[in-house]
Amino acid sequence: MAFNKLTIKDVDITKKRVLIRVDFNAPLDNEGNITDVRKIAAYLPTINYAMSQKAKIILMSHLGRPKGKVVPELSLQRIAIKLGELLKTEVSFVGDCIGENVQKLVMAMNPCEVMLLENLRFYQEEEANDPNFAKELASSGEVYVDDAFGAVHRAHASVSAITKYFDKAVAGFLMEKEMEYLDRVLTNPPKPFVIAIGGSKVSTKMGIVEHLIKKADLFLIGGGMSYTFQKALGKTIGSSLVGENYVPIIKKLLEENMGKIVLPLDYKITDMFSKTEYGNVQTTVDENIPDGWMGLDIGPKTIEKFIMKLDGAGCILWNGPFGVIEIPEFAVGTTKMAYAISDSAAVTIAGGGETAESINSLEIAHKFNHISTGGGACLEFLEGRELPGLAVLTDKGINTDC
Ligand code: AMP
Repeated sequence: MAFNKLTIKDVDITKKRVLIRVDFNAPLDNEGNITDVRKIAAYLPTINYAMSQKAKIILMSHLGRPKGKVVPELSLQRIAIKLGELLKTEVSFVGDCIGENVQKLVMAMNPCEVMLLENLRFYQEEEANDPNFAKELASSGEVYVDDAFGAVHRAHASVSAITKYFDKAVAGFLMEKEMEYLDRVLTNPPKPFVIAIGGSKVSTKMGIVEHLIKKADLFLIGGGMSYTFQKALGKTIGSSLVGENYVPIIKKLLEENMGKIVLPLDYKITDMFSKTEYGNVQTTVDENIPDGWMGLDIGPKTIEKFIMKLDGAGCILWNGPFGVIEIPEFAVGTTKMAYAISDSAAVTIAGGGETAESINSLEIAHKFNHISTGGGACLEFLEGRELPGLAVLTDKGINTDC
């Protein structure tokens, strides 16, 4: 199914004040330096297009979780500088997102100028979806564009309530691309459709498994969530991560989907683990983990089997690391799977923050068809949930002029 929302190309933005919601929530190091510019670069197609139409471009975003307070470390000022470098043009920065000063500066803008407003979440009204705050934000633009896929699962003022103040709410190019790839996975994935899934908690990933189990041809399950599956099969998992509540549901799921769910054959385990420190390391001979030991990565037999299962896939969707990637010793499974998926001739789609970071750190991002910029949004969409920020965008074919 094609994306059925109006996009920035469907409205006249020539010389207009175009207010674009982006998600510049880029990772920062301890000194506040931007460690990955992809979250910023992802918006260049929409911004460049708006510049080509001589629009006056006003960008708004959140960064981190300031919880309604001004947190100087979470100012978007350095993002404005980085964006200017990427766009090769000056990006002006305003130290607020609403108010008289913002209004004055916005009204004085010239065509092709780009301005970034201050962190929306410095106001608690943003997350509260406050209509008055939304109205003030809206007063900066004549056209509203939502390109922030990463924020589309939240009914926040700049994504949801704001749309009431515009006759149309249209999507940017990143939103369109995200939805086209992810929607294809839900409606018409090239077959065989293989889903590789990992991550820490079974609770956060079961939604995807349950929603996509009928659509997928194979589910490769690794990472912290796999131990609950092993437990459901009566295997021993030592002190590995487990979601006890999920054992009965998983038992039923495994019975009903025999052969579709592929689980690890062996694990890399340790007898002591706390954040960055770990004890002795061993590889198990099979899927059982002895008492006092904990699985932190998939083992070599599993890696070989999982890679074999990717062979001939039409579409591969990957979400979540297969081990504790923060420690190189336990990042082997994820790294080998990342290379194998990237080398596949299938349509390859990756989602989730850590998954994207693993791919980026290996410098193989260009080999994927699509890497989602939205962790939570991507998960919720794949679980089949309605995304509030998407629901409020104007459908194609609806004439709002009469
Ligand atoms: P998620 O956000 O659910 O995709 O989880 C990502 C996190 O899962 C990473 O930070 C990994 O360290 C963690 N993870 C993956 N495999 C394991 C495992 N076997 N045990 C504990 N944590 C894991």
